[in-house]
This record gives sequence, C-alpha cells and structure tokens, in this order.
Amino acid sequence: MTPRAGDLRPRSKVVTRTSATSRRNNSTYTTSKPSQKCPSCSAAVLLPQSPCPNCSALLPLPSNLSHHSILFLSNPVASSSASASLDISQELANTPANGYDIDKAALKKNWLLRQRDLHPDKYQAKDDGEKSVSLARELSGRVNEAYNVLKDDLKRADYILSLHSRETEETDKIDDPMMLAEILEAREELEEASSQDEVDRIRADNHEKVVETTSRLSQAFAQNSPDLHEAKNLAIQLRYWRGLEDAAKDKVI
Ligand SMILES: [Zn+2]
Repeated sequence: MTPRAGDLRPRSKVVTRTSATSRRNNSTYTTSKPSQKCPSCSAAVLLPQSPCPNCSALLPLPSNLSHHSILFLSNPVASSSASASLDISQELANTPANGYDIDKAALKKNWLLRQRDLHPDKYQAKDDGEKSVSLARELSGRVNEAYNVLKDDLKRADYILSLHSRETEETDKIDDPMMLAEILEAREELEEASSQDEVDRIRADNHEKVVETTSRLSQAFAQNSPDLHEAKNLAIQLRYWRGLEDAAKDKVI
C-alpha cells in the first residue's frame, strides 16, 4: 500500500467536533472549562492541551481524561460536585450518539497530530530530559490506547459501556434465542462450506450483520439517556459476528 503523503504529514489544525448540541448546552449550563497551571510559565492551559501552547513545556494530564478528549474529539467538562474531577457522561452527552458516533477521518488526523506533539524524541534535548521523555512516553502510550479503542466499533462500544460499569465479557452469552440460532446456523454453514464462493458469500452476509449491528448500537447510544441494556446486548452480538468474520477469514478450503 502506498501511503498518501497527506495522511502522514497533517498540516491543518486539529479537528474538533464541536456539535451544535454542545454550543446549545454551553448557553444553558455554565460549564467551566477545566484547565491546569503550567509549572514553567504559569499560563492557564486548557485540558487536554500538552505541551503548553505558551512555552512548549510538556504537562502531565489527569488520568481520568476520556479517550475522546485526549484525542480532541470532545471537550472535558468539570464535574459540578468535585472541583478536581471531570464529568465524562456530561462531556460525551455533548458529542454525537454519546460518544459512539466518531468521525474516523478526524480521529486519525488528531491521533497523528498528537503523536507528533508528544513524541518522546522531541523532549530529549530539554533541560529535564529524562523526566520529559518518560512523560512523553506515558502520554503517547495513552494516546495510542485511546486511538485503538475509539477506531474499533466494538471496543468503542465496550469503552462507553465501561464508563457506566456495563462492559461486556468474553464469556457473555446472547440472550435472544432467535439471534443465537441465527449465529449458530451461520457458524455451521461456514464449517460445512466446501468452496471459496460459499465462504465469500457467508463473509458478505456476515459483513452486513456487522454493519447493521453497529448502526443499531449507534441508535441505542444516541438516545438522550443511552439505552445501555440494548447497547450491551448489541455489543455482545457484535462480538459473535466478529468471531464469525475471523473464522471465515481463516477458513482454508
Ligand atoms: Zn507554559
């Protein structure tokens, strides 16, 4: 694959999804924008900015930043109850489908920009070299983790569910007997497939199921108060369809 230069050397600014919803919310709620004081130049730096836009010092970031905000896809919201904590539910309520619908091009672009700004090699020459380099390593690790979770439709669902302590487990079973029968039947069909054409058809059918389940997940998360019960069931289904997809890929005729 030939990488396109534009993908690897982004020049434009970070893309933030400031939706109409968040602008509307800002006018009705008085949400303070969480910031921290730069220890080098004392500037007030909005989260999740790092390095400091004023003096380029690398700043640590709170461990409870959301994956979305560390990649500039949402703006952190200060919790109204505790001054130092963040309200991730409120933050994601300002994004499409409570954080499930992601602009994947913006995600990739912001990830690459973050990687560039937080690259440990950039901090080798600083006075406090070792300290900044290890902080840069930690932050780029977190940025990579956030990217890997958000770019994957299943991991992203599980992440949002986990914020509500509803994440799925590998061992979770499908509770809809019709759906389970459909998946088992597809499995059996795959096992018995004797030509590449058949496997390809099963993969195409399965791909449709993956797309459909992802779109239903988006609808479940998109409700004002996300339907977490439905979202969890759909995430479990998606895990099964994904398993079938992998099995079809590995099938040797
Ligand atoms: Zn500074």
